[in-house]
Amino acid sequence: MLGLMQDWPLTVDKIIDHAKNWHGDREVVTRSVEGPIVRTTYAAIHERARRVSNALKGWGIKPGDRVATLAWNTDKHIETWYGVMGIGAVCHTLNPRLFPEQLIYIINHAEDRVIFTDLTFVPLLEAILPHIPKVERVIVMTDAAHMPQTKLPRAEAYEAVIAGQSTDCVWGDFEENTACGLCYTSGTTGNPKGVLYSHRSNFIHTLLGLQSTVLGATPSEVILPVVPMFHANAWGIAFGGPAAGAKLVMPGAKMDGASIYELLETEKVTFSAAVPTVWQGLLMHMREHGLKLSTVKRVLIGGSAVPESLIRAFHDDYGVEVLQGWGMTETSPIGTLSNMTPELESLPFEEQLKWRVKQGTPPLGVELKLKDDAGRTLDHDGHTFGHLMVKGPTVARAYFREEGSIVDGEGFFDTGDVATVDDMGFMQITDRSKDVIKSGGEWISSIEIENIAVGHPKVELAAVIGAAHPKWDERPVLLLKLKEGEALDKQEHLDFLQGKIAKWWMPDDVVALDEIPLGATGKIDKKLLRERLKDYRLPA
Ligand code: ADP
Repeated sequence: MLGLMQDWPLTVDKIIDHAKNWHGDREVVTRSVEGPIVRTTYAAIHERARRVSNALKGWGIKPGDRVATLAWNTDKHIETWYGVMGIGAVCHTLNPRLFPEQLIYIINHAEDRVIFTDLTFVPLLEAILPHIPKVERVIVMTDAAHMPQTKLPRAEAYEAVIAGQSTDCVWGDFEENTACGLCYTSGTTGNPKGVLYSHRSNFIHTLLGLQSTVLGATPSEVILPVVPMFHANAWGIAFGGPAAGAKLVMPGAKMDGASIYELLETEKVTFSAAVPTVWQGLLMHMREHGLKLSTVKRVLIGGSAVPESLIRAFHDDYGVEVLQGWGMTETSPIGTLSNMTPELESLPFEEQLKWRVKQGTPPLGVELKLKDDAGRTLDHDGHTFGHLMVKGPTVARAYFREEGSIVDGEGFFDTGDVATVDDMGFMQITDRSKDVIKSGGEWISSIEIENIAVGHPKVELAAVIGAAHPKWDERPVLLLKLKEGEALDKQEHLDFLQGKIAKWWMPDDVVALDEIPLGATGKIDKKLLRERLKDYRLPA
């Protein structure tokens, strides 16, 4: 027997409709790419998104067509995002930090018809123009006064384009499984792969994110998503903010410590989200200038493992709670969060740290398990490494225009991460499977060593990679980028690890590097590091 409730397709236009209807005056504040801080509201964003939709329809954009954005987090980006999705077209968020060859690959693979770009990326698009022949027009997200001379096809200023458009437009009115957004993984593991979100998956992901253990946003919250909209949907905030009616503060092109600090304080931000390197930059800035945070209560940190030193600094020096999140483009991205249980909450903070460095537990809507190489489900004993598998309505089942399914017989997607789960249910990522160091048939977690090593006061960034060893296959090498003016004393860093990791995990060597390369989503690029160190040999 079926239930007798209404069929109300879960389409994301309803999110911005809701924001306009019930939180229409709530502010969205942006550090514009042109420079000044600009203020708008959900009502105005809704109206302008309708104009975007009508412009798209005028150009013959049909449901299912891909429309790309190459843009920072701004009000205009949100307008474009909803304007595209509302008419059933697919908003393809391009990551400008990708290498030009990768951008060319994904623009062509997606067959983007239109690109909305920020001023910042006009030269980048001009450079790759000969290689993206299917792009019909480029809209520069600025006004006529700032519009550059450009040879991009049918280039027009965003403000000029939408000025003449009607605000009347029918949104939604299609099946909830209609495609809605497209985001390519940055290709740290081969060619970039397209994750094609549906309206339904994004709507459910928004509800999932509104749980108090996730974003838990309310209308009184002021949210600053530093994490870009092109990095796994700004972790859901471009949907969750309007859904909750929270004020949004958009950082535009500037994500350095000083710029972020200024916005946090002047806009009275209560909650923010970014990858660890952004927060390291903020902390460095605040320490140098003796600054404090007056309104921030919580920060969500994810994208790569969060070092203990970062969690401790936020807690001890600034009274801010760090919520660690694990997820990936394929999971929309929310997967797990490091919320304390009531039992852990009663412990002193120092003892809680053992769990706070773990990636935590899944919210309702995400199923998770560990599998061994033979496909057997592993116990939650806190030390057995296994393949992390996830399942749910916000997890991908195939890649865009790639043959075949990416889930196993039980519907689980292999994340490519290796993890443990302890008896409290806390998942901990030990490595990406290709970064695991295999020493004498056992696995060493590079992440765990890195997280401790980076806590040393002289260290800015730490990476651990495996180096070939005649007897043990591989042994760990600790690579360090030291803070300015510091010199390397290898023993000092080995001593720092002493007692904190198993003896046989102790790196065989410590090497100082001028630079540790970061990939397109702000994480240490180990593929590139391994390439650069291909001639490195362990000391005899
Ligand atoms: P890309 O693969 O394009 O860099 P993703 O955001 O999809 O971008 O990357 C997802 C991966 O990032 C995960 O599979 C995992 O390896 C890593 N990751 C994300 N969050 C965490 C975290 N809190 N701790 C450790 N690793 C993380």
